[in-house]
Amino acid sequence: MTFRTSRRLLAPVIAGAVAGAVAAAGLILPNRIRQADAGPDESRARNVILINGDGMAAAQREAARLHLVGLDGQLTMDELPVSGQLTTSPNDPKTPVTDSAAAATAWATGERTYNGAISVDVDGNPLPTLGARAKAAGRATGLVTTAQVTDASPAAFFANTANRSAQDEIARQYLEVTRPDVILGGGEDWWLPAGVAGAYPDRPAEDRAEASRGTKGDLITEAKARGYQYVSTADQLQAAKGGRLLGLFANEELFQPRREGAGGRYDPPASLATMTAKALSALSTNSKGFFLLIEEEGIDGFAHVNDGAGMLQALGELDRAVAVARDYAATHPDTLVVVTGDHECGGLTIEDTGTADESGDGPFPIKGSSLTFTLDWTTSGHTGVDVPVTAYGPLAERFTGKHPNTHVHDVLARILTR
Ligand SMILES: [Zn+2]
Repeated sequence: MTFRTSRRLLAPVIAGAVAGAVAAAGLILPNRIRQADAGPDESRARNVILINGDGMAAAQREAARLHLVGLDGQLTMDELPVSGQLTTSPNDPKTPVTDSAAAATAWATGERTYNGAISVDVDGNPLPTLGARAKAAGRATGLVTTAQVTDASPAAFFANTANRSAQDEIARQYLEVTRPDVILGGGEDWWLPAGVAGAYPDRPAEDRAEASRGTKGDLITEAKARGYQYVSTADQLQAAKGGRLLGLFANEELFQPRREGAGGRYDPPASLATMTAKALSALSTNSKGFFLLIEEEGIDGFAHVNDGAGMLQALGELDRAVAVARDYAATHPDTLVVVTGDHECGGLTIEDTGTADESGDGPFPIKGSSLTFTLDWTTSGHTGVDVPVTAYGPLAERFTGKHPNTHVHDVLARILTR
């Protein structure tokens, strides 16, 4: 209460000080009517970077903070100045808990739908996506993920299909319908027909089930014909030039989630931060601005197998990518950065090491401390708890408070569709 009162009292003083400083510097003030109309930041916003920690809610973020930066530290994603909460429920007759497809559809279209839906409504009708609408408004678009590039979260922004497993159809729509300028991640298996191995061999030792399985022809060849530069290694990615870029760095995900001790590993051939930097340099050449979706899938992937060590590694990679995005936005004030998760995964909590119950994953050291913590998992599936959202840049303040996940769409659309 005291805090709120003092904030109200301070507000006019700060506003007056800023106006005075602007006047003293001899700067021309922007048109006040237009500014009032659009809100203080809206007219200068052009770019949006939306960052999805798949499966990331408050416990995942806090475990990463303790383990990676310590009791007095702060993750970059938590340093973004505005924070709020999002609910994640789908509109599904069978379950109150969302999957990544329904959650990303809420972000991309503003509509809650059933699990498995890729930007279609509850009757299966296609919905306009932010990816397509941003493109129609003249913006460059892109997606970067450690999942398959055609996995549910990116797919909902750039495709419409009643079933998230139709990943070859999603790839086809990328090339022939929505044309994101930058596509970086995994999932080569859906871009090539059975029998055409591509850069990543079929049935590798680490997962015998991985093999090319597309039914839409050789989409990599089609991508090249449509002007994409195609790369399959981190070195090629580093050397790539030009605006249209397709990079596929694995048959499926860029990591192998397995139960701890059963060969799980997180070592993407191209890191999320590297892909993010490359995407930003390609997309930022568009004078009308851009939309970039960034996703770290390893948080969800390792949470599903209750592997805290793998999950913490993925969270660290996500935070490095957030730093790249935040640094870009710091020098490009027309850029909104939003960091959230599509849903929680694992029913995770953080416990004292002495607690002798249940899963007891750990102990994990707290950085800069002799203390440790244990992770306790209650499920190998998703849960319905809220996810934190943090934001920086124009319109960031709209994420204050608690909103349904469709709110992400409503804020982003104000920038991307005008
Ligand atoms: Zn999941």
